[in-house]
Amino acid sequence: MIDSPDVLAIDIGGTKMAAALIAADGRIERRSQVVTAPVAADAGDELWATLAALLDEVVGDTVPGGIGVGCGGPMNWAHGDVSPLNIPAWRDYPLRRRVEERFPGTTVRLHNDAIAMAVGEHWQGAGRGSRGFLGLVVSTGVGGGLVVDGKVIAGQSGNAGHIGHVVVDPNGPDCACGGRGCLEAIARGPAVVDWAVQNGWQPRSGDSDGRSLLAAATAGHEIALAAFARAGHALGVALASAAHLLELDTVAVGGGLANAGETLLGPARVAFATHTKMPFAARCEIVPAVLGGDAGLVGAAAFIHHSEQYWPGGAD
Ligand SMILES: [Zn+2]
Repeated sequence: MIDSPDVLAIDIGGTKMAAALIAADGRIERRSQVVTAPVAADAGDELWATLAALLDEVVGDTVPGGIGVGCGGPMNWAHGDVSPLNIPAWRDYPLRRRVEERFPGTTVRLHNDAIAMAVGEHWQGAGRGSRGFLGLVVSTGVGGGLVVDGKVIAGQSGNAGHIGHVVVDPNGPDCACGGRGCLEAIARGPAVVDWAVQNGWQPRSGDSDGRSLLAAATAGHEIALAAFARAGHALGVALASAAHLLELDTVAVGGGLANAGETLLGPARVAFATHTKMPFAARCEIVPAVLGGDAGLVGAAAFIHHSEQYWPGGAD
């Protein structure tokens, strides 16, 4: 076994689990991923065995200098237990302890995947150098993470940055959180597709997913364009509130729906401009995230490589 200065980064979501060795300059040295296969609700350790095999493959004969983990929430990050919404087999699952047992003596830091994504984009992507940064993921849900005044802001229980549940329409649709009119209730992928279908869009292929809606919008289909414009508008309204509250200068938008590019971001910028007239807020730019599916891995590595800035618990 060879001691390595590289960090083992792990990104766990409902569809895939990825791992990589990441150097101190942010370079990805080795990367691999597996599908998050559904297992029985009481077979959490089976899923862990799959992940452990992936980790062994990625580290090879090296001992990483530390391990950073981004995982879908909710979680109790201080205890290292996770209950990802889209992984029913893990409920209060002691993920950090499992990783620590696999790599004895190595520091393991685990946090929300939205925070990891935001940190990744701030360290190596669209948020580089920003003093007021929000990294946003718009996909099945809408999540976010904050890096303000040079430090990640995670909140007392690790839930700061939940931009998806900022209210954009008090009379809007019910949200899965139990509230009403949240950004997520309007702008999450499935809600955008549902709205298009309700308003007469008929997916040609028969599968009414976000990708075929995006294809329709790209082809100039009016209802598809209106569906993205509605989501973009909601996004712009939420971001206007966030920019005033935190004096943001950069918002990077990633996630599956962000593949719509200007179809989503154009209307977001129009709404944002309508609701931000004071210069300190109006100057904030809404840009596409640039690291794609690697943002979470890069951010998880930064929990170790740059703990003074990017680990909510602070420096070592
Ligand atoms: Zn909500």
